Amino acid sequence: MAQKCIGRDVASGAVVAVEFDSVINAVDHPLAPPADVPYVAPGWIDIQVNGFAGLDFNAPQASQQQVAEAIRALFATGVTRFYPTIVTNSPEVMLGAVRNLTAARTSLPEGPAIEGFHMEGPHITPGDGARGAHPKRWVRPPDVEEYKRWQDAAQGLIKLVTLSPEWPEAPAYIQALVREGVVVAIGHTHANSGQIKAAVDAGATLATHLGNGSDQMLPRHPNYIWDQLAEDRLSASFIVDGIHLPPAFLKVAFRAKGVEHSVLITDAVQPAGCPPGIYMLGEMEVELLPTGVVQLTDPGRQGLAGSALLMHVGVGNLMRLAGLSLIEAVTMATRNPARIGRVAGRQRGLAAGDRADLVVFRVDEATKKLTIEQTYMGGNLVYQGA
Ligand SMILES: [Zn+2]
Repeated sequence: MAQKCIGRDVASGAVVAVEFDSVINAVDHPLAPPADVPYVAPGWIDIQVNGFAGLDFNAPQASQQQVAEAIRALFATGVTRFYPTIVTNSPEVMLGAVRNLTAARTSLPEGPAIEGFHMEGPHITPGDGARGAHPKRWVRPPDVEEYKRWQDAAQGLIKLVTLSPEWPEAPAYIQALVREGVVVAIGHTHANSGQIKAAVDAGATLATHLGNGSDQMLPRHPNYIWDQLAEDRLSASFIVDGIHLPPAFLKVAFRAKGVEHSVLITDAVQPAGCPPGIYMLGEMEVELLPTGVVQLTDPGRQGLAGSALLMHVGVGNLMRLAGLSLIEAVTMATRNPARIGRVAGRQRGLAAGDRADLVVFRVDEATKKLTIEQTYMGGNLVYQGA
């Protein structure tokens, strides 16, 4: 059934009428536009979500009801498609989580929001620091046979794999995955300059949460952050919650990568959207503090363990902390993750032919805070604000 949505196009600043069913059919300029209209943009795409609203996507026993509730909570933040992110764990638990979410994707009305899977680990660095919150006992070398088991469980929906190129097996593994259309990202790594170059030569195209999942102390140069910043063939994703990265790093990183090669992610974990307290990320216990910091509770291991960031807050943070314009911030949450994360049907933006994934929102000019009014996924209204 044809629907229409009137709003201010973020890209042009003009008031537009978007006509759609499951895809956008036309974007027209109404002759007598109303004066006070909200913004309309393609819906956010978050390519790194470990958990949300009380659910850990890594839990193989999560009920379909819990998955549906978590996805509905994502819709309320303007997210229309996302990659549940499965972190380092035993082969059985990782496969179980993928199988469970694949079943939810098929059976739930909210399921199509699961656009694919991001496997973050287990082929990361075994070394402390850059390994971040991932448990050392389950770190293991790249293995194409394990990838094939993931892909079987996901019915072909493994879309993104984050690994460390320091493993000797990495270049051949990256080539094998890239041949199948999977995006390979570098992250949680102690790789040297040559290993990073070899990974990019083999087809890696993304640096996962650049500037995080790294050591507290690094040699001033060379180091793996400079190498990934300087490598023009690598796009990068960033956690812009005001906690993970200081404004100076954001400014430099966005200039090095350019807006076009930068992606906003939340790296959200189970407590995102919940009150402070103790939660889980895979087999690790984490605590959400009142400040918004999510950290490991193990006193022997320091460090952040994902975030409690909401995507619409991240878009506001890009303007507030990094000085970006609204269109730049929205691009990092929509077209860039679509292109860099290879999300089909979302390459054009707010234009005829793309899926009718839309977010309608307002921006407080003083605080740069976004308020989500409506979210549509594939032409269906999936969130209506108060
Ligand atoms: Zn990570």
